[in-house]
Amino acid sequence: GKGIAVFTSGGDSQGMNAAVRAVVRTAIYLGCKVYFIKEGYQGMVDGGDNIVEADWSSVSSIIHMGGTIIGSARCMDFKERWGRLKAAENLVKRGITNLVAIGGDGTLTGADTFRSEYSSLLDELESTGRITKDEREKNKYLNVCGLVGSIDNDFCGTDMTIGTASALRRIIEALDAISSTAYSHQRTFIMEVMGRQCGYLALLSAMASEADYVFIPEDPPKQNWPEKMCKKLKQERDMGKRLNIIILAEGAVDVEGQPITAEQIKKVVVDNLQQDTRITILGHVQRGGNSVAFDRVLGSRMGAEAVMALMEAEDGAPPCLISLEGNQAVRLPLMECVKQTKAVAEAMNSKNWAKAIELRGRS
Ligand code: ATP
Repeated sequence: GKGIAVFTSGGDSQGMNAAVRAVVRTAIYLGCKVYFIKEGYQGMVDGGDNIVEADWSSVSSIIHMGGTIIGSARCMDFKERWGRLKAAENLVKRGITNLVAIGGDGTLTGADTFRSEYSSLLDELESTGRITKDEREKNKYLNVCGLVGSIDNDFCGTDMTIGTASALRRIIEALDAISSTAYSHQRTFIMEVMGRQCGYLALLSAMASEADYVFIPEDPPKQNWPEKMCKKLKQERDMGKRLNIIILAEGAVDVEGQPITAEQIKKVVVDNLQQDTRITILGHVQRGGNSVAFDRVLGSRMGAEAVMALMEAEDGAPPCLISLEGNQAVRLPLMECVKQTKAVAEAMNSKNWAKAIELRGRS
């Protein structure tokens, strides 16, 4: 059977374990030899015990767990050719010719670079005697398939990334808890949630918690936002509401591109409305804890589809991305999705928010 390896890289997210499990089991079911690469690209570069064969039971009882049991890491070595050379050597020595990469745009960019220079890496390994002619011949192609693991839902080409639904659930639990204490004391709470350049978590949690105000990076408020926000908060209180909830995406900015901070919002509320105002920065609990059913199923579907795509692909085919499109698992050209995602980031950086929203499209 073919050699196939799975690794997780970049920031972790709930549902990665379900994907890893599905990759392992589908691969075994289809007669492949399947390996874990631990600690992301670092394990691929370092080899040794970081690359181990997985069996059916190595992925038992992990489907519900947050994070990733095979570890994740940022790896500078893989950004260098010498690091990728070592990684290629480690794959060839084990007969691994298929990779499932689970991570964000950095991870998937690295996977694409690796695949496109693979034959030149093998040339160098062979000419320097690190692999034999026979090893080179048997492993001359590397096929790559990517899955997006991210709580931010910030990737173009897929409706949902693995982990977003679980992060949202965690945020809502926290908001429900905060609302009850806010209600008792007639307080205003400012909740900062994750999402860097993507306001998906902030926007959806605002909708689901009937928050009074939300700040997201894609829709920066005009200079007069303090007055508008205070008017809205006051209106709610005047109608008898005992609390106010304001949600802030960590990457929110104003029209000038200046970050909006929770402290800044608090000062506006306290100075203008004299409300008892508290800040909660939710932080890493958002990416922790068990995954919700949606992410377990999403990870499982994506992982199984990745293996099937690899088995059906021609040797050396362009890398593909498994995405969710209208509740269907579909295969897309990986680099186009990465490029589009990077174009969104560039548009955001150059304060062209309308273009960013247009480019992001469905996702
Ligand atoms: P997150 O969304 O959590 O940031 P990510 O996959 O984008 O996830 P990165 O830290 O950008 O996270 O990338 C993960 C790893 O992928 C890096 O540590 C590095 O090893 C590898 N990588 C990223 N970009 C490249 C690149 N251009 N070439 C080679 N490898 C890369």
